[in-house]
Amino acid sequence: MKSIGVIGGGAAGFFAAIQAASLGSKVILFERSPNVLSKVKVSGGGRCNLTHDCRKISHLVKFYPRGENFLKKVFAQFSVDDTWKWFTERGAALKIEADGRIFPVSDSSQTVIELLVNEAKKKGVAVEVNTTVLSVSFSNGKFHLHLKQKAVQVDSVIITTGGRPKIEQYDWIKSLGHQIVAPVPSLFTFNTPHEKLIELQGIALPHSHIRLEGTKLSYEGPLLITHWGVSGPAVLKLSSFGAKWLHEASYRARAHIRWNSGFKEEQLREELAAYKKLHPKRRVLGHPMYGIPQRLWAFLTSSAEISPESCWMDISKKQNNKLLENLFRFTIEIEGKTTFKEEFVTAGGVELSEINPATMESRLVPGLYFAGEVINVDGITGGFNFQAAWSTGFIAGNNCANREYI
Ligand SMILES: Cc1cc2nc3c(=O)[nH]c(=O)nc-3n(C[C@H](O)[C@H](O)[C@H](O)COP(=O)(O)OP(=O)(O)OC[C@H]3O[C@@H](n4cnc5c(N)ncnc54)[C@H](O)[C@@H]3O)c2cc1C
Repeated sequence: MKSIGVIGGGAAGFFAAIQAASLGSKVILFERSPNVLSKVKVSGGGRCNLTHDCRKISHLVKFYPRGENFLKKVFAQFSVDDTWKWFTERGAALKIEADGRIFPVSDSSQTVIELLVNEAKKKGVAVEVNTTVLSVSFSNGKFHLHLKQKAVQVDSVIITTGGRPKIEQYDWIKSLGHQIVAPVPSLFTFNTPHEKLIELQGIALPHSHIRLEGTKLSYEGPLLITHWGVSGPAVLKLSSFGAKWLHEASYRARAHIRWNSGFKEEQLREELAAYKKLHPKRRVLGHPMYGIPQRLWAFLTSSAEISPESCWMDISKKQNNKLLENLFRFTIEIEGKTTFKEEFVTAGGVELSEINPATMESRLVPGLYFAGEVINVDGITGGFNFQAAWSTGFIAGNNCANREYI
């Protein structure tokens, strides 16, 4: 019987362990903390957004700022449909929310945890908690997992230790010969401590557009003004795709916001001109346009130096242009970031060119596999990170168990 050591008891580790054990391997899973699946527990606000209703692979991979091509090969083997089937066939009813996110019908991550833990038990996976694997070495045809008190020998190893914030935390993986792409945080909100805008905390714009100056990155979606800056899906997406760039810029940057992405600049200009002609005696402040909430409209008009009493016929060309600029290209100075409460991930990890996406086996060390956030793959919010963990975990477990040993 082949013996497999899985290092890390998260989503990817459990999927890999269950799949390998169900193919007849003897699997031991090592988890350094007292509890397994702790991120699953807190995920999705305790509801576990375990995947996303995006069934077309060419579309699905677009939600991953890093690893798009690699993931095409991964998802071709284990897709969103497979995740849905895997969980529902084992008794966890799932539901699709209006925005495409998939959750257990129970709205509790405990459903996912219990299912994974019971499935692992049924398949005979031995789980050792409070057990940190300090390093891995290979000699005499065996992998040696070095724990605090002893070493354990296995035929193959699957590393599923998740993302870590510091590159030194990957040293033991580096010592196996692998390169590590320096980790940087992804999925965060922007701090704008010196912007007056933060006085408008609580305002939500359902369709906005945000662009990062100095890059080609711009995203549309809901945006929320908070007491520390801006947040919401459009900002999180920008933070994810711009993770590396923003890190290098020490999280000091400039972004431009269009409050209603449904209007192009020319359209805004034309509509404003027509409206002014039609309602010259209307007070500017009293009639917000373009679906902009009253408080934000008051802020944008006041920043264009339009007094609260002014009617449209009173405003100068300069005020008019400044208002258009505020509506179409409102500039914010980003000074720092705040971790998003719902979900954060690490961009970076084991270099993808050194892993075979067909098997998740190392191209450098035969018999060594990787899965989950430990590799240089990460997605935006919405269930994409777990989908990558399930898919890579399944493939690693499958191929590791089926591997021929010489
Ligand atoms: C608050 C929060 C909410 C989230 N919500 C969602 C969500 O709703 N949907 C979504 O798709 N994604 C979500 N994510 C992201 C998602 O949780 C991760 O991408 C996913 O958990 C990665 O799975 P993993 O198995 O690769 O790593 P992890 O879940 O991080 O598991 C790795 C495990 O390895 C263990 N470990 C590490 N080193 C060692 C060692 N040397 N020896 C033994 N054990 C070790 C760790 O203790 C850990 O338990 C969320 C993240 C956070 C932080």
